Parts: sequence; structure tokens; C-alpha cells
Amino acid sequence: MFAQVALPLPLSEPFTYRIPSHLEGKIDIGFRALVPLRRKMVTGFVVGKAATSSLSDVKEIIDLLDPYPLFSGEMLELTKWVSDYYLCSWGEALRAALPSELMLKSEIYVKVGDKRQEARPDLESTKSISPREKRILEILADGKERKLSWLSRSLKAKGLYADLYDLSKKGEIQIDERLGKPRVRIQHEKMVRLKNFDSSPENLELLGSAILALKKKSPTQAKCLKLLLENQGELCWPKLVREHKISSSPLRSMEKKGLVEFFEAEKIRESDWALDVQEAKPVSLTEGQEEILGKIKTALKEKKYSPFLIHGVTGSGKTQIYIEGIKEVLKEGKQALVLVPEISLTPQIISRFKANFGDKVGCLHSQMSAGERFDTWRRARNGDLPIMVGARSAVFSPFPDLGLIVVDEEHVGSYKQDDPAPRYNARDVAVMRAKLNDAIVILGSATPSLESYYNAQQGKYTLCQLKERVEKQKLPSVKIVDLAQERKTGNRGSISLSLLSLLKDRVDKDEQVLLFLNRRGFSTFVKCQDCGYVEKCPRCDITLTFHRTDFSLRCHYCNYLKKAPNLCPNCQSHDFMYKGAGTQKIEEELKQSFPETLMQRMDLDTTARKGSHRRLLSDFGKKKFGILVGTQMITKGLDFPDVTLVGVISADQALDLPDFRSRERTFQLLAQVAGRAGRGKREGEVMVQTYYPEDWTIKLAGSHDFEQFYGSELDQRRELGYPPFNHLILIIFSGRSLRTVTDSAKRFSASLRRKSRPARQRALEILGPAPAPLPKIKNRHRWQLLIKARSIMSTNHLIRKVLEEENGAKKKRAVRIIVDVDPVDML
Ligand code: ADP
Ligand code: ZN
Ligand code: ZN
Repeated sequence: MFAQVALPLPLSEPFTYRIPSHLEGKIDIGFRALVPLRRKMVTGFVVGKAATSSLSDVKEIIDLLDPYPLFSGEMLELTKWVSDYYLCSWGEALRAALPSELMLKSEIYVKVGDKRQEARPDLESTKSISPREKRILEILADGKERKLSWLSRSLKAKGLYADLYDLSKKGEIQIDERLGKPRVRIQHEKMVRLKNFDSSPENLELLGSAILALKKKSPTQAKCLKLLLENQGELCWPKLVREHKISSSPLRSMEKKGLVEFFEAEKIRESDWALDVQEAKPVSLTEGQEEILGKIKTALKEKKYSPFLIHGVTGSGKTQIYIEGIKEVLKEGKQALVLVPEISLTPQIISRFKANFGDKVGCLHSQMSAGERFDTWRRARNGDLPIMVGARSAVFSPFPDLGLIVVDEEHVGSYKQDDPAPRYNARDVAVMRAKLNDAIVILGSATPSLESYYNAQQGKYTLCQLKERVEKQKLPSVKIVDLAQERKTGNRGSISLSLLSLLKDRVDKDEQVLLFLNRRGFSTFVKCQDCGYVEKCPRCDITLTFHRTDFSLRCHYCNYLKKAPNLCPNCQSHDFMYKGAGTQKIEEELKQSFPETLMQRMDLDTTARKGSHRRLLSDFGKKKFGILVGTQMITKGLDFPDVTLVGVISADQALDLPDFRSRERTFQLLAQVAGRAGRGKREGEVMVQTYYPEDWTIKLAGSHDFEQFYGSELDQRRELGYPPFNHLILIIFSGRSLRTVTDSAKRFSASLRRKSRPARQRALEILGPAPAPLPKIKNRHRWQLLIKARSIMSTNHLIRKVLEEENGAKKKRAVRIIVDVDPVDML
């Protein structure tokens, strides 16, 4: 028999391996297998079996890595789709669907040979040894065994195989290849249980009298029995010893009497939530919520794929609908998956699920240990964990019978994986997964992505709207501050006088303030500091990028080019460079007006340590300080009733990004930020500082007018052929030599243009190649090609062909080519 094994290598089809006789009948589709690949052993996934193979030289599978298949048929189908859609290998997609700790790889170890160790000949006298081999021997002279990767690093050299092989032939060194230690494995623990335990009243009575009888003669044994009885008849042995100070001898004598028995069970490592989980209060749904839940219930009864988009302002009760929906799903004996943008940033939503579902909720996030993640994953796979809350990669959580997927804040860019492949968007994978399972998928957002909203309008998703906040609190009023005006008054600081006076007012009233700063500035475009003018590409409507090398402004979509002006073309100011203000600078400025104890900063720097993020939020919630200054982190999911003012230091940073989504991002950002104000009894207020007080994005965000914004933005997208009217595919070329990178990019685009010609004319449009917006990162030059495509699958087919050509070419290793389908972040 033969097996098709998918390996997590770029652009590779599954390989065929022979199934050795001792594994015959044990191996099946969905197992991990250890297979030889060139000089290594790697983990692969069995995706097919065949009785014969036409290949002549087929290697054998080395070993099976699992006692049961890790992938269900559904997961195989889903990952296959991911590999076709996002243009990666099936093996890469399968790898993404597993906790990363499960991938085993072999390592090569080397040490000096026995012969050498005895003789220890002088190094200088060994003539036929190359200088590099000599250095290898010098390093190994201490007799220690070293990993090949370690050796490469200390020699700063790659491709040591030939040297090592030569040295080993001469008996100078020994090469050993061993499997790296698995980073996780199933842990077992010793358990003790009552023999033949059942909870019938007669049996319980019997045990009760046994305990009474034992009490005098052997109080410890009686205590054990009692404890066991209180714990459904079984307990973990170490726990008995540790927590109840019971040694093993009474247990042993009870075993002899036939009262108890010992056994081993899989141990489940659980992470400490350390959250203040409150009890869930029963709520009666609002009319709007009832209506949506009704539709969800109906879809659940029909057992067919049903996608919903819930568009509801922040605080309108979306999360409550997810919770009620999940209750229905559990009643049907199915499982539910909840995706959130970033788990460490949304502790509040998790405690809410915990409060409602207790131990039925599992959670997958990056701060868990490998063991905890693996165990949570296995519990879900075995059907012991009906609800999973997690970030992006949780979309692949294994479930026997998935009934519902929720994608909260579906518009958020972090659902998209940048690196490594597969570069998938978890929201879109969720929709596909629901389709494969005849399940329900709910996308929720206060500011849906244009793609999702368009899908809803086209009838692909059922659109549900919640127009009011649950308590009917008003949305905050938004004031816009014109920064150009502020500069004219002579204020060169980042905080306008009007914002400052509001801040003082709130602090005096013992209310709380969030100050938001989008630190993701982009220093390579030019902006007038006096009037706020920036230059845009006339063809693509995106901000032009400044290139220091030739003092030019370029469009990185289509490569439009012009000389950078010396003076602002709008107001002739000389102050025509971009300068950003970081959170730290704002904090400094604030310290001049407020005592230090009153404010805290929250950004990547202040939350690097585990738990610090949660502590900051918890302190803010307890009103230990009044002003929280922060980046994107503070815009999401926070629910603090005493926040009555939200200040946006600058709305322009997102608007100025050279990305066709910059307006959409700005709108979403402002809406999210505004949603943080006035969640309690008091009304909230938002103050937005900008150089573009007349810009329609900012104005419409100020009046909370999603429909109007959506309509205008959609018109623009249609005109320029951007999503949702086309898919975008971004191809990035990078390498050390600018020449080879540009050559490769040009060759690629020429070949793609040739190949696409026979296809229907407007099926795809190729823009560029052009230098990437960040044209050089870590000494690697970057160019890119942008494709607007009607259909992903047929375009991918063409791209795959060109990729194979390009990778077959001689200089392939000099240029790295990355394909990003449906890119979210164009920077
Ligand atoms: P969203 O997810 O849209 O931001 P939530 O579901 O978090 O909205 O609801 C906002 C607040 O209102 C929460 O504190 C929630 O507990 C509460 N809430 C939601 N639905 C109801 C309801 N039907 N009755 C009372 N309170 C509700
Ligand atoms: Zn100007
Ligand atoms: Zn352009």
C-alpha cells in the first residue's frame, strides 16, 4: 500500500510513500506520519491512500505519530480549500490547523569521532582537510555533541553537509540524526476510584455505612472514601496526597480489600484564567435581539448553511445574541466556535462567556503554555469541550459536530495572517467552514467591512441590524477640532486647547478619559504640517510614498512617479515633512497639566509583561487613575461606565496611509473609539483632532452615519475596481540584490500578462510592478505586483504556473516570492 503525504513545504503537492508492513492497516487518512525527505525526517499528513504507485523510487514511511487521526474529513476538505484559495501547499494549510507544537522534525547532531578522540592528532598535521573543515573540528574539539543548526550559527555558514560528510568518511566526526524532542505530549496521571461505583441510592447507602464502620478503626480510610464519594467516585492520586495529606499506605490497603482501584487517565492542563468571573445575570432580550435570535433558531432547525451579518452599534447587545445562540446550539448537542480579534485584548468578553458557560468554554491564545494549548485542542477534538473562544487560528479548532461560528468584530485586520503561509483570513475561512458543515456563521460588527456589508446587500448574508444601544443610551456627540486652525493660534503641542480644557473638566468631576493615538504612523509620506496637505496618486487614489534615494513620490500600486515638491503645493509652507507624536510624547505633554498619578499609558511597551495589560485595565476599571492614554489596544471591547470623554489625538494617521482602505479604516477606528464613551448612565463625548475637518470620512464618522459612508465609499471602490468588486492579489518579491528583485518582478509580470491574455479581457488587471511601500526591509529590497482579479481560483491557477517557472529558474534562491491573496494590509 502507498500513502499520499502532504508536507508543509511551499508549492509542494503531496508525496507518495510506501506503507511498511508493520504499519499496514494502522495508517489512515488524517494521521501524522514521520517521513524521510532528502537527508531529514519531517512530519507530514496522510491525505490519501492507494494500492499502487507508478513511481519507481518510493521511500517508506518511518513511523506513525498518533494513536488516532488528528484530522477529520471536514478538516481535510477545509484545509484543501485554504491551500487552493490562498495559494499554498496543502501541507502548509494542515500545519496551520494544528497547535504548532505538534510538528516534529529531525535534527542532525555531530561530535568528534571515537578514532580521533583516542589519537588526538595535532590539527595542523591533518593535511587533506579544508579550512572550513578545520574550523568545524576546532569547534567540536571540546568533545561535546552539537546540533547542526548550532554549528551553522557559530560558523555563520550554511550548507555544511558536504564538509560534514567528508569529515565523517575520514572518521574525524560522527553524524547522528535524531528526532527533535516533541515539545508537547499527552500527560497521564495516576487516579484512584471506588471499585464498581454507581450512584444508585442502595449503593450510596452501602458506602455510607462502610464509612461509618471504618471511622473508628481507620479514620484515614474513612476520610478517603468520603472524599471519593464527594467527587463522583474518583480522584487524582497526587491531589489526595498533596491537598489532603493522605499517604499511599491506606490507599494500598483499601485496594487490597477491593474497595478502590488505581488507573491512569489523560491529564488535562488548564490555564489559570485569573479573571473576575461574575455570575451571569439572566437577561430578557430586547425586541431587536429576539427577532435576530428567532432567525438563528430557525436556521438551526433547518440544519443548513446560514450566514448572518449583525450590524449593531457598540453596546447594542450583539454579544448577548451570540450567547443565546450558543445556548441553542448546545441544546442540539453541537459545538460552537467564537472568534475574537485578539484574545489578550478582550478579557472582558471571555469572562462573559465563562460566566454563562463555565467549564464548557475553552480558550486558545498565545499566552498559554504549549501543553495547555495542546490539551485544550484535544478536549475539543474529543467532543469534551463544546465552546471554544480564540483568535485567528482557533478557526481550525477540531469539533465533531460544529453548529455555529461567531466572528466578532469581523472587520478587523488581525483576522488575516501575514506570515507564514497560509496567509488566510479567519473570517473568510469561518464562512467556508460553516458552509462545509451546514452550520450557522454570524459575523458581527458595529462597522462591518465593505466586503461583508456588500455581501449582505447582495443577499449572500442575512443582514440583521441593531440600531440602538441596549439601555437606549445615546451615542456620544462628536466634536471636531481643526488642527490647522490650532497651529495658527501658536499651539505647537499635540493636544489642542479645547481638548485640554475638556480633560480638566472631566478630571475635576471624577469621570474618566480615554486618549487615543494611532501610533502606526508611516514616516515615508510627506505631509504639510501647516495645512495638512498630502499628495495622492491620480490613478489609484492612494497616498504617494516618499523615496529618499531619488527624492521622488511614487504610487506603490501602479508605479506612478513624480518629483517630491520642496514647498507645500497647497499653502507654500516649508514645513512639509511628516512628524509623528508617540504615546510617550503625549504622556510627557500631559504631565505638564496633570499630576503623574492620574494617568497611565497603554501600548506595546507598557504591556510587554504577562498580565500587565489586564492589570492596567482592572486598575482603570477600579478608578485608580483617570486618564488612559493608548494605541489601538484601547479601542476594542472595553466597557467602562465612567468614561465620558474620548479624545482622538489625530484622526489623520490612518487616513494618510497609502492604502485603498485608509478611509474605511479611519471610519471604523473613529466609530470604535467613540463606542468607548458614555457606556454608563452619563452621556459621552468624543473629541477628534484633525487637519481635515471637512473630509467626508471624518464628518460621517462624527455623525455616526454608516450607511452614507458605506454608499459613498462603495461608489469609489466600484470606479477603481477595488474590493468588493474585485479580489486583490499582492505578490511581493524580495532579495538582497535590487537588480535580481526587479528582474524577477518584471519577468513575472510579463509572463503573467502573456498567460492571462487568452482569458476574458477584464477578468484580471495587473498593476505594476513597483517598489513596495517599504522598499527595503532588513537589507532586502522589495518590489511588488498587484492584481485585480474577478475570480481567485482561476487567477491562482495562472499565478501557480508562473511561480513554478520562476522557481525553476536558476537564480531562484536569490529572490523570495510571496503571494498574498485578499491582502488586508497593503503596507
Ligand atoms: P455589543 O456586543 O453589541 O457591544 P453587548 O451584548 O455587550 O453589546 O451589550 C452591551 C451591554 O448591555 C452589556 O453590558 C450587556 O450585558 C447588556 N445587555 C445586552 N443585552 C441586554 C438585554 N437584553 N437586557 C439587558 N442588558 C443587556
Ligand atoms: Zn500646506
Ligand atoms: Zn497609482
